Amino acid sequence: MSDLVAIRGPERPLPKGDDRGRPNLRGMSRDELGEWLLGELEMKRFRGDQVFSWLHDKRVASFEAMSNVSARDRARLETRASLARLTVDTIARAADGTRKLKLRTADDQALESVLIPNDDRGLTLCVSSQVGCCLTCAFCATASLGFRRNLATWEIVDQVYQAQDLLVQEARERGDEWPARVTNLVFMGMGEPLANYNQVKRAIAILTHDRGAGIAGRRITISSAGLVPAIERFGREGLGHEVGLAISLNATTDVVRDRVMPINTRWKIAELLAAVERVPIKRRRRVTFEYVLLADVNDRDEDALRLHNLVGRMRCQINVIPFNPHPHAPFRRPSQRRVDRFLSLCRGYGLRAFVRTPRGDDIGAACGQLALETPSSTVDAR
Ligand code: SF4
Repeated sequence: MSDLVAIRGPERPLPKGDDRGRPNLRGMSRDELGEWLLGELEMKRFRGDQVFSWLHDKRVASFEAMSNVSARDRARLETRASLARLTVDTIARAADGTRKLKLRTADDQALESVLIPNDDRGLTLCVSSQVGCCLTCAFCATASLGFRRNLATWEIVDQVYQAQDLLVQEARERGDEWPARVTNLVFMGMGEPLANYNQVKRAIAILTHDRGAGIAGRRITISSAGLVPAIERFGREGLGHEVGLAISLNATTDVVRDRVMPINTRWKIAELLAAVERVPIKRRRRVTFEYVLLADVNDRDEDALRLHNLVGRMRCQINVIPFNPHPHAPFRRPSQRRVDRFLSLCRGYGLRAFVRTPRGDDIGAACGQLALETPSSTVDAR
């Protein structure tokens, strides 16, 4: 296994501020913002609430628009802080209504978010946490990008606001009075969210705050490939009570998982599952195990039995995801017959298992496809 790289280091550090070193206020939690305003500008604590809701509820573009902040303070904010946002590069639209937003950071890094319409629950945004990924899962296109850097908190938060802006614009174009809303978030875009723990945790605090977007924690899921120390921290810090946890499992033996997900060479399946079992989870909530089904690799009858033996005792759900083929991975999608059989075996063993229909696969937006070329006929350039 010496040729497998389990975890890569970033090519670039996390940006501390804009090109003038000014911190981006959009990436501060409510408390941090209050402290910063007090420490830097001696503004009273209640100003923190006001500025926070200008940024995250009204989502203003400039300090100038913060009408209940004095002109003097607005001018001081202008020189000391940044309100920069991501820029929208392209928006690709899939036949099933999924939209892929290709966004750019100030230092010209590209990232993607995917907006997925739900049947009855509004819209889910699949959010990225890194540019590229620090891990090297063999079935994943993002892994082929290398690992450029972690995303800053405001770059995570702004993906949600860019998606919401798109929904507002679409509603305006249709003449709808009320735009649709992003109701659910899944950290399943580019990157391993638990490897960028602090930024992701702070982004969740901002996005769930009732003075901001107010997205319910129960509608947020963090997906990890199995970074055991970070899963333990997730449990210790009580995040399992706030948001959902999904584990990308994808194999039932260490031999196969070492190959499919090289992080397994650091933390084996037993160690991973033991860490997951120790995470205190909110009552009535289940851990999700994602299982990308790869033809002749992890889709055999024995795999279904082993899967049951591994996780059957846990309060969990299995999401079976037939592999979305792409040129960066040497795997095939199993036949529909095979998928059906795997699912029915899992269910026969008593597992709560579902097949996840690929969404947006015609624009490279489906699971494991982020970072692929998008067919140009589906793209709106900005
Ligand atoms: S599947 Fe997730 S963790 Fe694995 S390489 Fe892709 S983005 Fe990273």
